[in-house]
Amino acid sequence: MDEASTIAVGHVIRGCLTKMAVEPGRGNAPAHYTLRAGTQRLDLNACLGRPLRLSWSGAIACTHCGRATRKSFGQGYCYPCFKRLAQCDTCIVKPELCHYYEGTCREPEWGERHCFQPHVVYLANASGLKVGITRATQVPTRWLDQGAVQALPVLAVESRQQAGFVEVLFKETVSDRTNWRAMLKGEVAPLDLAAERDRLLARLDSGLANLRERFGHEAIRILDERAVSLAYPVLEYPRKIVSHNFDKHPEVSGMLHGVKGQYLILDSGVINLRKFTGYEVEVAA
Ligand SMILES: [Zn+2]
Repeated sequence: MDEASTIAVGHVIRGCLTKMAVEPGRGNAPAHYTLRAGTQRLDLNACLGRPLRLSWSGAIACTHCGRATRKSFGQGYCYPCFKRLAQCDTCIVKPELCHYYEGTCREPEWGERHCFQPHVVYLANASGLKVGITRATQVPTRWLDQGAVQALPVLAVESRQQAGFVEVLFKETVSDRTNWRAMLKGEVAPLDLAAERDRLLARLDSGLANLRERFGHEAIRILDERAVSLAYPVLEYPRKIVSHNFDKHPEVSGMLHGVKGQYLILDSGVINLRKFTGYEVEVAA
C-alpha cells in the first residue's frame, strides 16, 4: 500500500475513485482501509466517528484507459474497454466458461498472466456459508473485499478455469453469493468452516476425482489450513439499510460509523464505493 500520500483528517482530497485499499488487522485488530481518489489517499480508520462528505462532480473516467465516459460499465470501464478487455469478459465471473483453448481469449497474454496461475477455492462466511475462488496472491484481500468474517482455503488448483469447475461442484450445495444487507447489518452467526469443509469434500469426492482424472492428480489439491477470522472497523452497524447512489444524489454525507467489504457505513446510509470506481469525487473528512 502506498502510504506516502496518506492525508490527515481535516483535509479534502479529489480524484477518480478506485477500489479502497485494505490490509488485514494484526491479531484481532480490525482491517485498515484507505480511500483512494486519483493519486490521493484518505486513512478511513482515522475518520471513524467523524463527519465525511463525498461529492461527485458528474465526471467518470474509465479505470483502464482514462477516457471520459458518460456511464460506467462493469464497475469503472468505458464501453469500448468493457467490450474489448479480457478482464470484462463473462469467463472472469464464470471461469468454467474459459475459452482460451478455443483461441478466442480477448487478450491471450493477459489471460496467461492472470488466469493460468495458482487459484484457491475457499469457504467463507460473509452472510452465511459461501464458496468462492481467487488467485492465491489475492488472499486475504478478496475476503476482506467481500466483508467475510471467517474464511478457509479448501483447495489449491493450477488455473482459474479449474477453480471454476471446482466451484461449480460446490455450488450444487453452497451459495456463491453474499447477502450484502445481512453482511452490513453485522448479523452473521459464526460457522465451523472446517466441519463444513469436511462435510462438503466427502460429498464432492467423486466430482473432484473426475476433475483430477482430467487435469492430473497434482492439479487439484486439498489444503490442510485453519480458518481465519477477519474484523472490520465498525463502531455501529445499521439496523435498516439505506443505500446512497451518486447517480441519484451526487452529494453523500454523514457520520462514518464503519467500513466493511467495499462499503462505507454512514449514519445516513451505506455506499458501495466499488460500484462507483472511476467517478470523480471530492472527499472532505
Ligand atoms: Zn476505457
